[in-house]
Amino acid sequence: MERFQTVLREHFGNPASSNHAYGWAAARLVEEAREEVAQLIGATAREIIFTSGATESNNLALKGVAERYAKRGDHIVTTNLEHEAVAVPLAQLARRGWQVSTVTSAPDGRVDPAIIAATVTDSTVLVSVIAAQNEIGTLQPLPEIGNLCKDLGLIFHTDAAQAVGKIELDVNRAGIDLLSLSGHKIYAPKGVGALYVRRKNPRVTLEPQLSGGGQERGLRAGTLNVPGIVALGEACRLARLELATEAERLLKLRNHLLNRLREELGGVHLNGSVEHRLPGNLNLSFEGVMAHRLLAALTMLAVSSSSACSSADSQASPILLAIGLPVELARASLRIGLGRGTTEAEVDFAAEKIVAAVGQLRRENPTN
Ligand SMILES: *Cc1c(COP(=O)(O)O)cnc(C)c1O
Repeated sequence: MERFQTVLREHFGNPASSNHAYGWAAARLVEEAREEVAQLIGATAREIIFTSGATESNNLALKGVAERYAKRGDHIVTTNLEHEAVAVPLAQLARRGWQVSTVTSAPDGRVDPAIIAATVTDSTVLVSVIAAQNEIGTLQPLPEIGNLCKDLGLIFHTDAAQAVGKIELDVNRAGIDLLSLSGHKIYAPKGVGALYVRRKNPRVTLEPQLSGGGQERGLRAGTLNVPGIVALGEACRLARLELATEAERLLKLRNHLLNRLREELGGVHLNGSVEHRLPGNLNLSFEGVMAHRLLAALTMLAVSSSSACSSADSQASPILLAIGLPVELARASLRIGLGRGTTEAEVDFAAEKIVAAVGQLRRENPTN
């Protein structure tokens, strides 16, 4: 935050202005940030393209590959666990003539690499798999999928907006060619993000989706958001330094919360794998309780239901349905995110409030 403000106040140069000191200073800050982003994911600075966020990164990756590699084939493999920022651009590509195969997740919220392998055809160009699912927090087997893509000569993209800075992630170890990340998911401001684009083994090229001034090596034109980029760099540096301890701390808090809820309430279901899961994510369904009523009783907590439904009615989350949850449980889910600021006292407070609210709703509607 402090760096963000300093940059706003003092570094108003345009990094593209190479003929004066203000421009140089801004360019230096941007390059330092690029180095930090790269280091967090095991990349090199030249492989990082700054964008406005993961949505733009996904669009650039998917459409950029589709347009550049159309001669290779016309088939893309993805999963039914993707965020709209991948699913919708892929639907657009499907309308432009691409074949898009959607692999179905197992009930534990993970896709099986063997099914991806079985879905690949001679005309497959690209595989896109979310790294950590945004509702249920499940971690996908990226290294297995990455290796598969390497063996078959396919380009591998991952939407890692939820995973970067939360779990160890190395683009080389996981065989990732394109990786999208978002600033505001790692405590940087909204409106900044990055796309990792592999330059070696193999070198991946993209058709730019924004053209103009040639910034970002011609891949993403437009004057850079210098304050946002500097803040993203700082967020990546902090995330890298505290990742291991923070992951362990959050895992303990999460397990404490889950254990308390299970001890004090029956009929609590954890949605998605417990083992392959973001340390700060819980997605729970409470038998006999509608999520929108539970949320209405929990306004003191910053929790949400899985679905992006209006609070008035209770749509089941497509992601929970995708992993095979019955509609009643998919409508009864609560997503709880624990993060950097979350303390044990807050977790205990949350547990008390949830236990009371679930108990109350079940007493009001015992037949449900
Ligand atoms: C938040 C999120 C996005 C969108 O990121 P923006 O930076 O807000 O565009 C995309 N994918 C996933 C998995 C996310 O969690």
